Amino acid sequence: MKPDVLIAGSLMPHVRAALDAAYATHDLVGAPDRQALLREIGPRIRAIATSTFDGCPVALMEACPKVEIIASFGVGVDSLNVEDARRRGIVVANTPDVLNDDVANMAVALVLATTRNIVANDRYVRAGRWKREGDPPLARGLAGRRVGIVGFGRIGKAIARKLGVFGCEIVYHTRNPQPDQPFRHYPDLVEMARDSALLVVITPGGAATQNLIDRAVMDALGPEGILVNVARGSVVDEAALVAALQEGRLGGAGLDVFAREPDVPEALFAMENVVLQPHQASATRETRRAMGDLVVTNLAAHFEGRPHDVRRVV
Ligand code: NDP
Repeated sequence: MKPDVLIAGSLMPHVRAALDAAYATHDLVGAPDRQALLREIGPRIRAIATSTFDGCPVALMEACPKVEIIASFGVGVDSLNVEDARRRGIVVANTPDVLNDDVANMAVALVLATTRNIVANDRYVRAGRWKREGDPPLARGLAGRRVGIVGFGRIGKAIARKLGVFGCEIVYHTRNPQPDQPFRHYPDLVEMARDSALLVVITPGGAATQNLIDRAVMDALGPEGILVNVARGSVVDEAALVAALQEGRLGGAGLDVFAREPDVPEALFAMENVVLQPHQASATRETRRAMGDLVVTNLAAHFEGRPHDVRRVV
């Protein structure tokens, strides 16, 4: 008997094919009547396959009382109700590490795009302004400038390695200092912002980091400072960010993530010192494929009795 697996998120075709081959899969995503489907197959479900974007509501865990594992596509677990899963003894597995490089590359790309005015200057050329008005204003360099990384886990460290190549001085803020790291740890985020030219945010989302980057942090970063967020929109007080940019209290921003995706505050659209991305940090073919493979591997390891091979959060 193949284990019953509920497909509760949109998964890539190669993941879907692998799951269909190995398990009795049930589609919640396209189901015409989700409640009816859950009443029918919920009691048999042993695994839920989902994604960071689709999440796993507590109601779904309740509808599937025998679920053993939630296997999610993505490293962020803020949408998975991890504590509820833990209380129910459900394993939560995610797809860390395989995306470190590409997410760090997006952070570096936003650092370069904002400091060197890459997108604004592209628009300048296309609008014929170079010919009419001459060279645009000078940009800012990176060598010797201090970059404060907020969150210094797997991806934060990859960002530090990459920005080190550009000659940046790396410092970081986390709740717990990491004595094995050669970089200065700031227990006080406002102090780090005051001392930094740029802040790169790469913490998890969720309640513990809600609006961590608030007005005080932005004001400390200052009118020459640049904020790059590749973490979660919830980590930055978005209204405070818009106000800081409008009032010139913050120098610029590179944003991959937003509080209410895909809604983006329209006030940002006209700002030349802001670079916007539609949540693309892990969105390369290679990384998304590897993330998908890891969902399949996590489920296989669980059902083949290899719990140590499951990339589990709880
Ligand atoms: P890790 O768990 O390896 O690292 C998280 C880091 O954040 C740790 O250093 C942790 O340190 C720090 N942190 C956690 N809570 C706080 C807090 N309240 N204040 C300050 N620091 C905190 O995670 P990853 O590096 O693998 O991933 C980080 C996040 O990046 C993901 O959770 C996800 O939200 C986001 N992400 C975004 C993507 C995108 O597409 N834009 C793609 C992939 C990931 P400590 O516990 O000591 O505080």
